[in-house]
Amino acid sequence: MGEIATNLSAIQDRIAEAATSVNRKPEEITLIAVSKTVPLEGLFQAYEAGQRHFGESRLQEALPKIQAMPEDCVWHFIGPLQSNKAKAIGNLFHIIHTVYNERQLKEIEKCSRQVDVFIEVNIGEEEQKAGILLKDIDDFYQSLIHCKQATFRGLMTIGPRVESSEESRRFFRALKEQNARLGGTCISMGMSGDFDVAIQEGATHVRVGSAIFGSR
Ligand SMILES: *Cc1c(COP(=O)(O)O)cnc(C)c1O
Repeated sequence: MGEIATNLSAIQDRIAEAATSVNRKPEEITLIAVSKTVPLEGLFQAYEAGQRHFGESRLQEALPKIQAMPEDCVWHFIGPLQSNKAKAIGNLFHIIHTVYNERQLKEIEKCSRQVDVFIEVNIGEEEQKAGILLKDIDDFYQSLIHCKQATFRGLMTIGPRVESSEESRRFFRALKEQNARLGGTCISMGMSGDFDVAIQEGATHVRVGSAIFGSR
């Protein structure tokens, strides 16, 4: 087995372990292989090992990969969503995880198909981080549900940088509470360093890059 296949298998085991530790079913969790900066060969290896969900953060980089990979891949946009590219991204990707302002919504409205979206939340209220603040979520949610081309799936966050993943728990828990309040059916949270804790706190989509493909 190649290194990528070995890593994927180890991560699937950890996902199952985290899920069962809180009486959740491992099948409730979608592993998104974050393949930004990874050459096409790495994506093919992951595909061969059974991986179908991929996460990319730049349109230019993703385009040739999406064209080259088999049709049954599911593409998640997880990078900064510049509004001038939101229409193209919505037409290409199945799910956008990083929607948090009106300008992005206006462009998504022009897409030629329905796009599933997550609202990105700046759950740690960090200065430099993208995403909506808790106090603005309700207003933005109203705008989102009036955007015909966008289907609300749930909330997404990038946890604050912390020393140990255990410190992320309270942020993940807070996101889950907000998600339940808004009726979100999915929650996108957890990366290589903290996906186990995110799953214990209710994540349905974990975005894992370096633990699969190696450090960038
Ligand atoms: C890069 C990235 C990831 C993956 O990070 P790793 O630490 O490599 O697992 C997940 N989510 C987002 C939004 C990212 O930009």
